[in-house]
Amino acid sequence: MKKAKKTYTEERESMVSTQIKSRGIKDVNVLEAMEKVPRHLFVPENMRKLAYNDEPLPIGNGQTISQPYIVAYMTEVLQLSVEEKVLEVGTGSGYQAAVLAEIAKEVFTVEIIDGLSKNAQEVLQEEGYTNIHFRVGDGSYGWEENAPYDAIMVTAAPSEVPKALQDQLKIGGRMIVPVGDAFQELVLIVREKRKFKKKKLLPVRFVPLVKPH
Ligand code: SAH
Repeated sequence: MKKAKKTYTEERESMVSTQIKSRGIKDVNVLEAMEKVPRHLFVPENMRKLAYNDEPLPIGNGQTISQPYIVAYMTEVLQLSVEEKVLEVGTGSGYQAAVLAEIAKEVFTVEIIDGLSKNAQEVLQEEGYTNIHFRVGDGSYGWEENAPYDAIMVTAAPSEVPKALQDQLKIGGRMIVPVGDAFQELVLIVREKRKFKKKKLLPVRFVPLVKPH
């Protein structure tokens, strides 16, 4: 007998159990968000069949949407709660912003490529998200007007952590950022009263954080 085609909901459930829970992600909020957000709507139409695969995918303009596990991992590390305000650098497809918006109160997301930001805004509006705020510009300077943030997620890799981003963290605030050039590592930064505590977590591969000339 021919196997029935899986629905997107079923594909998402299996993505969460085989790629995310199985690799140790436990935060219920993160698991629920990953089960809920329709990832296939954030990739180009001809890629929808691949949307729930265990890999990053191209989203146009030479950019990529991260592998589902990395999205879940970076979100879990931030330990978000419902009252918190998050800054994302690198809106890209808008998928990560949606996952953050499922958990936190407000998401502020900055993207340097106008077309990507517009596209993400359309999809997220269509999906009914009202707690995501968009800006087009260089995210290395953060988004000062809404600072300080409880958490910051950077989804493109700078060679070094931009100072402006650290400065826009609350005391007790957390930032997750891939740092490096050819070799990159995810770094977790926690702002304490008098210092920033840094911890290297795992090797990763992100597109570079672009510096406009
Ligand atoms: N979070 C995205 C993935 C982003 S890929 C998602 O869920 O789909 C990284 C994104 O960072 C790209 O869209 C890229 O254009 C953007 N980017 C690169 N340099 C940037 C900068 N200086 N400021 C803001 N965005 C930047």
